[in-house]
Amino acid sequence: MNKTDLQNATAEDILSWTYRRFGRVALVASFQAESLVLIDLACKIVPEPEVLTLDTGRLHEETHEYIEYVRKQFPIRLRILAPEASELEAMTGEHGDMLFRRSVPLRNQCCAVRKVNPLARALRDYDAWITGLRRDQTPTRAATPVVASDPGHDGMTKVVPLASWTRDQVWDYLHDHGIRHHPLYDRGFMSIGCAPCTRATQPGEQERAGRWWWESDTHKECLLHPPIAGVPERTAVPARGAV
Ligand code: SF4
Repeated sequence: MNKTDLQNATAEDILSWTYRRFGRVALVASFQAESLVLIDLACKIVPEPEVLTLDTGRLHEETHEYIEYVRKQFPIRLRILAPEASELEAMTGEHGDMLFRRSVPLRNQCCAVRKVNPLARALRDYDAWITGLRRDQTPTRAATPVVASDPGHDGMTKVVPLASWTRDQVWDYLHDHGIRHHPLYDRGFMSIGCAPCTRATQPGEQERAGRWWWESDTHKECLLHPPIAGVPERTAVPARGAV
C-alpha cells in the first residue's frame, strides 16, 4: 500500500500498514475518545502495542483514574511521560505556576515544557508515531495528511488513522464496541486537556472552544501539532453533534 492508497484506507488498514512497515511504533494517547478507538484497534492488530501519554502535572484527577482504568482493560504497554524536572523548576521559578493565563508566549512555554519537549525526547526511541487527530476538529487540522513525515520530530513518520473520521463516527465506535469513555465528557467537556486550561463547552460552541478559553484569537493548539501552512487560524467551524 502506498501513501495515496492510505489516504482512502480504513483506520484498521492504516494501523496494520503502520505496524508492518515500522519497527517501533508509538501510539500517543490523550485518553480522549479518539485515543480509545486507536487503542482498541491497535490491540486487535498487534500484541501489547506501546502507548505513550503525557502526564503534564496539571491533568484532571479524572484523567488519571481513567488512564488507570484503560491500562487494566487493554493489553497495552503504557509509557507515562513527565516534564524534565530542571526545565520545569526553571520555568515555574521565573514565571510561577499559572503563567499560561498571562500571554500566549507564556502559555506556549508551559506547553513546551510540559508536553512538547517530553514527547520529542520520547519519540527519539521510535520509527513512527500515531495520533488521534481529526480534520474536522479545527480549521488548522483540515489539511492533515494520513501519513506524512513530521518536521517537528526529525522527519519521522506521523500517522493519523482517524483523519477523515467525524466526531459522530468516533462515538459510534465506542458505543458499538462497549468502550467506556472519559468521565469528563458527561460533564459537558468536548475536548479534554490540562485542568486549568480546559472547561466544559456550551451548546453550539466549537469542539475545542473549552481549551485556553481566555484566548480569543489563537488557533487552540499546543504545538504538538503545529498548524499547516496556509490554513486560516480564525475561521469558525460549527460544532458537531453533542457528546
Ligand atoms: S495545557 Fe495549560 S497547563 Fe497544560 S501544558 Fe499547556 S499551558 Fe501548561
